[in-house]
Amino acid sequence: MKKLYFSKDLNRGKERTVLRLVEELGELSEAVLLKNNDKISEEIADVIAWTLSIANLYEIDVDETFNLKYKDVCPECNKCPCVCESI
Ligand SMILES: [Zn+2]
Repeated sequence: MKKLYFSKDLNRGKERTVLRLVEELGELSEAVLLKNNDKISEEIADVIAWTLSIANLYEIDVDETFNLKYKDVCPECNKCPCVCESI
């Protein structure tokens, strides 16, 4: 993603890049409500892409950050699978 879009992401800026992610989340929500599985797949890819663009703008190592928080057990209850009461 960095090689593909970092220059454009820098020019757009952090705030406008977050707004693009929000737009994509709206499109994902719409696809879910419409039960359109092809569109859901496409929108999930877009949400991940925009999330990675934001991570690049903040120089966040997503692998490291994700594995620190979600490695093996739920960060809230420390169990696998999660046994938290919230759904
Ligand atoms: Zn949990």
